[in-house]
Amino acid sequence: MIPEVGPGTGRSGRRSVSTAFPRCTVRPRYPGRVTETSIRTRFAPSPTGMFHVGGARSALFNWALAQQRPEGRMVLRIEDTDAARNRPEWTEGIIRALAWLGIGEDDPHFEGPYFQSSYADEHRKTARALHENGDAYYCDCTREQVQERRENPHLGYDGFCRDRNLAAGPGRALRFRVPEGGPTVVDDRIRGRVEFEHSAIEDFVIARADGSPLFVLANVVDDVEMRITHVIRGEEHLSNTPKQQLLWEALGHTPPVWAHLPVIVNEQRKKLSKRRDKVALESYQEEGYLPEAMVNYLMLLGWAPGEDREIMPWSQMQPLFRVEDVNSSSAFFDEKKLRAFNGEYIRALSGEEFVERCRPWLTGENVPWDEADYDPEVFAAVAPLVQSRVAVLSEIVPNVDFLFLKRPVEDEKSWNKAMKPGVGREMLQAALSRFADPGLSWTAEDLKAATEEAGAALGLKLGKAQAPVRVAVTGRTVGLPLFESLELLGRERVQARIAAALERLGAQEDGAGA
Ligand code: GLU
Repeated sequence: MIPEVGPGTGRSGRRSVSTAFPRCTVRPRYPGRVTETSIRTRFAPSPTGMFHVGGARSALFNWALAQQRPEGRMVLRIEDTDAARNRPEWTEGIIRALAWLGIGEDDPHFEGPYFQSSYADEHRKTARALHENGDAYYCDCTREQVQERRENPHLGYDGFCRDRNLAAGPGRALRFRVPEGGPTVVDDRIRGRVEFEHSAIEDFVIARADGSPLFVLANVVDDVEMRITHVIRGEEHLSNTPKQQLLWEALGHTPPVWAHLPVIVNEQRKKLSKRRDKVALESYQEEGYLPEAMVNYLMLLGWAPGEDREIMPWSQMQPLFRVEDVNSSSAFFDEKKLRAFNGEYIRALSGEEFVERCRPWLTGENVPWDEADYDPEVFAAVAPLVQSRVAVLSEIVPNVDFLFLKRPVEDEKSWNKAMKPGVGREMLQAALSRFADPGLSWTAEDLKAATEEAGAALGLKLGKAQAPVRVAVTGRTVGLPLFESLELLGRERVQARIAAALERLGAQEDGAGA
């Protein structure tokens, strides 16, 4: 039993997104220190593609922590500095997808969205300040020169310009001066202490020759400015973390709590990939997954509420989430399990809510029937039968299309299977004459009895006897309970469809005989 739906707000997911976003207003200036008393997490996606389920999981973990404190906040920061790869529609997709999951501006724990590109001045200023303090130096080495000097091409930059005191100028990148000594110890809430020897961290570039900052710097400056207390993100960023921790320290701040989430893998235990796997959250939305089922399932990728509990609504799950309890080993994205979850969530909806959720799938441009032939009352009558059998909402249409199409769909495979010689035609003729009996009350119960009788006379059990009737009337071998369907469709249409199927069989036989 699932007592309630959704993690919060924005369930429709169809909200239009305004592109005029407010800017960050709380902006303590570097290098001022701010003492935080509450949790400020952030979700910092780069809008370079469809919103990934892994991103959705990171957002939810951050969101859970932010919601645990009255003053807790999750900042949404769109890292849009890579102009060549960003597109506004990806940004809108992220905001829409988050709203679908229940994360958005109508919740006081949400802050943003902020756009990294609007803080470019701050990034440049910070780069200059790091230079002035001696924490960074200009370097004019080309990649080729560095490679020539190094025997091992895999070793990074050799520190050639460390003491050359170059001023800023064309062709000169700014490198961070990694302190002697070390190691840098990243205290990761999920992985424990991870040590990085300084000898293995090159003096990394923080700003290009044109002054534009690299991810590693911009990301830290924004986290500092936005007073982020917890950085919870994908494991692929763990290798950036010692560099970023050094930057936090050079800027005079205590680094945030770090937590790197395990990778998400497919059935073959390979990291989910855009090319191979269905990773876009939107695909799941389009297939008719309910956001509350999706939220529930995503929360279990690397974490569990304990006591073998799995199906649990957000309101119960959110207070239990602890980042320390996230597992460091990879998490398997099991679509079958997600489907099963979704089926359970569908069945837990009230009848009315179910009908409401089905609406987008039954109206609009993509439905296979003429709009005028759709009858919401007929759907409402059949809805309980549908609700008990679908796992995703997109399965509704093939279950009910026979009710609204002028003719049932033509599915050759179903037809050939049900209309075998010696069974199909005889059974349809028998059914047609039984169904024509004016004494037959048109109820599921009597229709079943009539079909059973007609079949028995031909030596067919009910299962075999009803197959041709089902295909003649609905077009398919599987679907809703047949006799309830016949009752709903009405005597006239059922008879007409059986007659049409007989005609088609006759034409087939004539064709075969000719
Ligand atoms: N923008 C980065 C990404 O999408 C995330 C950086 C972070 O979370 O620190 O991978």
